Amino acid sequence: MNTKDKNKRIVIKVGSAILVENQRINLARIEALAQLIAKLRSAYEVILVSSGAVAAGYTELKLDKTNLSNKQALAAIGQPLLMQIYANVFEKHKITTAQVLLTAYDFDSRKHTQNARNAMEVLLENKVLPIINENDVIATGELKYLGFGDNDQLSAHVTHFFDAYLLAILSDIDAYFDANPKENPNAKMRKVVTQIFEEELHAEATPNNAFATGGIVTKLKAAKFLLEHQKEMFLSNGKDLEVLHDFLMCNIHEKGTLFTTYSYNS
Ligand code: GLU
Repeated sequence: MNTKDKNKRIVIKVGSAILVENQRINLARIEALAQLIAKLRSAYEVILVSSGAVAAGYTELKLDKTNLSNKQALAAIGQPLLMQIYANVFEKHKITTAQVLLTAYDFDSRKHTQNARNAMEVLLENKVLPIINENDVIATGELKYLGFGDNDQLSAHVTHFFDAYLLAILSDIDAYFDANPKENPNAKMRKVVTQIFEEELHAEATPNNAFATGGIVTKLKAAKFLLEHQKEMFLSNGKDLEVLHDFLMCNIHEKGTLFTTYSYNS
């Protein structure tokens, strides 16, 4: 489903590496993101999934982030900092923001999912921008049974369970390539991917950034989940927001990877 009709619900996920750079929250980039979202809202209903709590916490307090409890504490420090910035930046666009912290439990039964969905619907009906993160302070993803552990998969669940049709991941990579572009200069960008094979999910997870949890594997897992549920995912670089803008607003797809079960001739 690639029709960019009015009132289509989409989820945008922005990674830590985009929001925080050189141990500073990158305000200019958050402003650019807010501008894009304000524009997209003329055609789409937008839900934002934002990482960056731990990285933002680290800008305030230098705790050893390899220790899980420290990471939880950093998330507790960073999450309100990020939300404060989002509130200020979106206020300039007259957009009210809301913080929604989720855990895997919120999607583990119909009742829990409905509960989260009810609140989401009220926010969206009232034109509020929900900003979601995993509740890192208690949902320690590293303890696999408790959490998603990464926002790529969380945002795929958000897309499916909150009835969006597309997840746009803003990462620090341009697209999904047929080889690692850092190691192979001939690596080609894959524009449309309709299927993800098991072996692709076993590549080494190597996020480029010390605070990024994901790397390409978690993105592929998110894409696989979405393809299985007939949803789409678009992966592009969060440092080049034009790519997502052009894809969603102008139907132009020159960069970035679209994961879809539909076939296009793009
Ligand atoms: N929830 C984590 C944070 O906000 C990030 C997880 C991820 O980047 O996937 O710091």
